[in-house]
Amino acid sequence: MQVTAMDIYRLLPQTNCEDCEEAACGEASCMAFATKLSEKEAQLELCTELSPEGLNKLESLLAPAVREITIGTGDKTITIGGDEVLYRYELTYYNPTSLVIDIADNLDDDEFTERVKTIEETEFERIGEMLTLDAVALRNASGNSDKFAEAASKLKKAKLPLVLCSFDPEAMKAALEKVGDERPLIYGVTEGNLEEMSALALEYSCPVTIFSPNDLEKMKQISRTLRERGIEDIVLDPGTYVEDGIGDSLDNFVMIRRLAVEEQDEDFRFPILGIPALTWLYEKDEIQGGIREATIAATLMNKYADMLIFHGTNIWELIPVLTLRQGIYTDPRKPQAVDAGLYEFGEVDKDSPVLMTTNFALTFYTVEGDIKGKTNAYLLVLDTEGRAVDVSLAGGQLNAEAVADLIKETGIEEKVDTRKLIIPGLAAPVSGEIEDESGWEVLVGPRDSSAVPGFIDELKEKA
Ligand code: SF4
Repeated sequence: MQVTAMDIYRLLPQTNCEDCEEAACGEASCMAFATKLSEKEAQLELCTELSPEGLNKLESLLAPAVREITIGTGDKTITIGGDEVLYRYELTYYNPTSLVIDIADNLDDDEFTERVKTIEETEFERIGEMLTLDAVALRNASGNSDKFAEAASKLKKAKLPLVLCSFDPEAMKAALEKVGDERPLIYGVTEGNLEEMSALALEYSCPVTIFSPNDLEKMKQISRTLRERGIEDIVLDPGTYVEDGIGDSLDNFVMIRRLAVEEQDEDFRFPILGIPALTWLYEKDEIQGGIREATIAATLMNKYADMLIFHGTNIWELIPVLTLRQGIYTDPRKPQAVDAGLYEFGEVDKDSPVLMTTNFALTFYTVEGDIKGKTNAYLLVLDTEGRAVDVSLAGGQLNAEAVADLIKETGIEEKVDTRKLIIPGLAAPVSGEIEDESGWEVLVGPRDSSAVPGFIDELKEKA
């Protein structure tokens, strides 16, 4: 159940800090602060007027339905979990799904180094954001404790946090002796190794994963036991079934998240982990395996996976997953916008053409991708509160007066001799009004920005 601003307000002092010169929380009223807290845009500690009892009550009220777990230390840290709702439109999702790439401890030195380098260097830019991988999962493929520990030592130099994967407590202990101070995620605890693994988690203060394939009753028992022993940082793996479709996995993921959010079941209020990498147990063909692994990852990410362990590192396999993650974890309450103003592309001069678009991030970066390196031009970016051309036209943010103001405010008239403005094809209905308001001649450009360089070439030929 989502906590409302009113639920929070009832526990705040409700004085609005009327006797203070300035409210410590920085808000005009307790209600305004409550609203910010409900949207996770403020820290509870900012209110200095709370009694210890009030603070305790609010801390427990504000604890997310899914516990936030931190893996790693310092610069090598990721946080997973923290979600409050089942459906993103109810609020937003927090902490994007961590994409973790596996590495076997029995690779030779060169292969090992090369794979770590690939994991660290994989990146892909989209809508102005650099999309990267998040962690390395070391598998005890050798079955040998010493090899596992040796490989863990090598990963000390890696730039990403670690997941240590072994069901053998002896191997886990050997690896933790090398990298336990880096707070790796221990994978995994089962009914069979519960005693030893929970002791290691406590000794090294590391988060642990419960592996309980297709058995949520057993998962609940293990979770309860771990919590009773004082282990609170838990990740849940109900099994990733890849051989005959992933229906069972999906059912378990959804059940766990419903238990956490709707029932507030303390044993299930933890992040969920899936392992699309298991695809490769059944699929040997690189193309088919890559497609299948990416599809499974996308399916599980859509249904609450907070961490996914991957094997494939082909960029064509990772791009759809990284892109999907970016979409799912974009805050639906905030339009994605770039700064309005004047942008320059290539070597511009007094004769360069002047284009216009809106500050919706997807529009801006699409236009940027279509003109950068292909033509020299100025680009005026209008503040439409992050709305696309057709939407802002309908909503009134894209209007003649705003465009005329933009021309004046950016000083473009001092930079060019031309008085011709190329507007997006979709903005054609206001072309005449922009001309009247700005005094510039308006040319209606293409509806699709990929045609802009060709459009500019044609203008030059005609000139
Ligand atoms: S600091 Fe606390 S009491 Fe003062 S206005 Fe903010 S929330 Fe209210």
